[in-house]
Amino acid sequence: MKIPFIDLSRQYRAYKEDFDKITSEVFEKGSFVFGENCSAFEHEFAEYIGTSHGVGVGSGTEAIHIALLACGIKSGDEVITVSNTAVPTVSAIDFAGATPVFADIDDSFDINPQLIEEKITDKTKVIMPVHLFGNPCKMDMICSIAEKHNLMVVEDCAQAHGAELNGRKAGTFGQVSCFSFYPSKNLGANGDGGMILTSDAEIARKAKLLRYYGFEDRYKSVMRGFNSRLDEIQAALLRFKLKKLESWIERRNQIAQIYAEGLKGLPLKIPAVLPGGRHVYHLFVTQLENQEKRDRLMRYLSEKEITTLIHYPIPIHLQPAYDYLGCREGSLPVTENAAKTIVSLPLFPEMKNSETDYVIENIISFFNYS
Ligand SMILES: *Cc1c(COP(=O)(O)O)cnc(C)c1O
Repeated sequence: MKIPFIDLSRQYRAYKEDFDKITSEVFEKGSFVFGENCSAFEHEFAEYIGTSHGVGVGSGTEAIHIALLACGIKSGDEVITVSNTAVPTVSAIDFAGATPVFADIDDSFDINPQLIEEKITDKTKVIMPVHLFGNPCKMDMICSIAEKHNLMVVEDCAQAHGAELNGRKAGTFGQVSCFSFYPSKNLGANGDGGMILTSDAEIARKAKLLRYYGFEDRYKSVMRGFNSRLDEIQAALLRFKLKKLESWIERRNQIAQIYAEGLKGLPLKIPAVLPGGRHVYHLFVTQLENQEKRDRLMRYLSEKEITTLIHYPIPIHLQPAYDYLGCREGSLPVTENAAKTIVSLPLFPEMKNSETDYVIENIISFFNYS
């Protein structure tokens, strides 16, 4: 059996008629940017997460970039985040002119709150927790550190649409939160898209200027801005998909549960969930005891036509592009060990139980014969 890591064509097949109708309606209307779908989706998504303002932009990377600028970040300011993340978290901080500063993670693969304070300097302005893999960060501790040191919290929620902690959704803890609608995300467009959420009207106003040439009115630029838009086709499709999101998250949790049961007792660590937390399993990341075992498991599964991936194989501080930060190998031991020992199993809402079972069977047989 061939098991893809993700198959987005299954989503299209399930809702083909709806998707086709939605896109043709946008074409019929002839309005492709800043139309009614973008503003309606901004409201609907902000309401779903539990904030008051949504600003649709071109991607998750641009959401982070613009959010930081809207918060008044300038050249030389420092943003504390993790090296264990997707490159765009850090490239957006860099493009906003700030300097990324890395704190190590704990065994949840998210930022270790106990290691944040030692990274704070006179230049620190923002803490940017990343709810990686859909697992919420320890926001109570992070927010109280931020409050104590008068820092802002900007959440990277690109992998965490609908994740919760103590009944509150990821994206409501900081001053600002940033979402991506990259196609494979839990709420994914059929192209690129992103959103900034905030309950601060002034930050929302600035973000709207920044995404649209600084225009207060047409052709009147009151702020140095650029262009980053969530187009009507994506917004219209996302409005429809938002209504399906909860059922997709439930299915992701169901599959995670099947994996957890099926892999119990094997020398393979399955994702832990924070007490009071709701994991949305954007990725199902397991961990082995060492790199050699991890690599062998991946090769074994690949021979059985099961695709697995590593999220992420090279921590940001060891990427050639971020060499300039001067953060050497050995400086973030938990992050570096994760990169060598983790492997993500296929998990997407349209995955069938027979496929999950096939993955489990093969992992069991790997451990039986190795
Ligand atoms: C996907 C992702 C981004 C960037 O989103 P794009 O829409 O691809 O620009 C940022 N941070 C994290 C953690 C991501 O997973």
